[in-house]
Amino acid sequence: MVGLDIDGVLADFLSPFLSLVEKKCGNGAIPPDSITDFKFQEHPFLTEEIVWKCMEEVSYQPEFWHNLSSLVTRREWEALEELNRKRKLVFITNRYERGTYDIRQVTRDWLQKQGITAPLVHFTDERKGKLADQLGVSVFMDDRHENCEDVAEKTRAVVLMPHRSYNQSFEHPRVKRVWNFSELFGYLF
Ligand SMILES: [Mg+2]
Repeated sequence: MVGLDIDGVLADFLSPFLSLVEKKCGNGAIPPDSITDFKFQEHPFLTEEIVWKCMEEVSYQPEFWHNLSSLVTRREWEALEELNRKRKLVFITNRYERGTYDIRQVTRDWLQKQGITAPLVHFTDERKGKLADQLGVSVFMDDRHENCEDVAEKTRAVVLMPHRSYNQSFEHPRVKRVWNFSELFGYLF
């Protein structure tokens, strides 16, 4: 079973999110490369508090999630759909659930729009190790090092972490850094 994170792996969360943060801060452009960790201790003006407020705001906006663009190619989606048809693909996300709309449906619709038929999506507000273990995940990919570390320590899965500026300083003996999404398919057979 392959377990994939969505935001930062398949969907470009960061660009539209930073546009919103830019509007709130009024300090001009925030290049994605300037985000070197999500605690923002080194950042010239971003703080955890500002970013948390923006995160809360987008969590109430179904259209934000609906409009995210894809980070992977059409061919890669087709390869994922092949796995999905064999019921060997599950999506695991930390997206927030709100009472005002159904983020589960918005997420499934977005994946279907990319070509994934009846996607299996699991939501959790915890780190992902326990859930990945319960789901029998043997290959896992996530852009957040906290999730990669948790899965590496709680399961025997191969753990892949796509290189991002905000995970660049993380290292773990069981987490493999990848530069291209397609490297995933090299671990499947
Ligand atoms: Mg992510």
